[in-house]
Amino acid sequence: MVRGKDLYEILGVPRNASQEEIRRAYLKLAHKYHPDKTGGDKDAEEKLKEINAAYDVLKNPEKRAQYDRYGTVDGQPFDMGGFTGGFRGFTEGFGEGFESPFDDLFDMVFGSGTRSRTGRRSNAQRGNDVETTLTITLKESAMGVRKKVRYLCKEQCGECHGTGAEPGSRPEVCPQCGGTGQIRASHGFFSITRTCPQCHGQGKYVSRPCMRCGGQGRISTTRETEISIPAGVDAGTTLRSVGDGEVGIGGGPPGDLYVHLQIKEHPLFERKGNDLYCEVPVTLSQAISGTVIKVPTLIDGVIDLSIPEGTQSGDLLRKKGMGMPRLNNRGRGDLYYKITVEVPVRLSKHQQDLLLELDDLANAKNYPKYWKFRELRDKNFD
Ligand SMILES: [Zn+2]
Ligand SMILES: [Zn+2]
Repeated sequence: MVRGKDLYEILGVPRNASQEEIRRAYLKLAHKYHPDKTGGDKDAEEKLKEINAAYDVLKNPEKRAQYDRYGTVDGQPFDMGGFTGGFRGFTEGFGEGFESPFDDLFDMVFGSGTRSRTGRRSNAQRGNDVETTLTITLKESAMGVRKKVRYLCKEQCGECHGTGAEPGSRPEVCPQCGGTGQIRASHGFFSITRTCPQCHGQGKYVSRPCMRCGGQGRISTTRETEISIPAGVDAGTTLRSVGDGEVGIGGGPPGDLYVHLQIKEHPLFERKGNDLYCEVPVTLSQAISGTVIKVPTLIDGVIDLSIPEGTQSGDLLRKKGMGMPRLNNRGRGDLYYKITVEVPVRLSKHQQDLLLELDDLANAKNYPKYWKFRELRDKNFD
């Protein structure tokens, strides 16, 4: 939920903000996103959860220091899991039960809550993100494409419907915590709560685990979804498909699917930035006399390419705007044809004699580099 986001950014405060500044920023945001203000808007509710989770860490100097140093607290992602602790003692004075972890906060900040109370702490958890790799062709990346992705993902077990209990049996109330998911220990004046080790906070336990999922309530399955790949994406791009991750627990939202893109090597074209390169061999006489040849493009069909008279090996001939599309429709790069003059091999004696004849007739005007080299070779350099 808040994982990966900077907690200071969420609250809109600088990293060196004082505790009081953090508190004020929080109250302002909490007020702004209060369900009474937003009419129960889902996005606002998510935002509010982030704000609460961020404040939960930053309001506590010890947790804040830990976050500053390690970017995490207790190795836990900053979700709502650890959020209730600090307010539990407070709400207890007003009787048991609150619907969601941030309700009690509102009760404290804004007076009595207007939300319904179910009498139990919600164990809703966002589903895990999953990732996979997808290989597409260079042409697909140039055109943009919709692609089916198959990936492994945990889903609710169809046998036990996610309860983890063998059909016919039921999950039972955890005997250690009495179903609250929390263990409370009193140390004199203070009361400390921690997650129940037996049920891991679920409040329930399974005496006869489901055979199919081993009591996990979830099993790995192969899923398929279709994702839209924008024209111009390069290898190494990661696309996110919101909500295609693992299902949430206890009514929590699903995670997301991250797709890492790889691009298959093309036999003719190589991508460099937004430009494409294609190597084109020409014959000796084509390079000597110049000609027009047919060449392929990646997505524009076959085109004519003029080889100028006297083209050398390694010369680059450019076709403007025929390279890869830039992302977000910002035009296209260029397409370069890299000319290789192919020296003929395995010529017959007769063919070789013809070429020798040509050389006999040639001079420094025809072979400027060759003759220049000979001239320099015969000089004495210091
Ligand atoms: Zn099962
Ligand atoms: Zn328990």
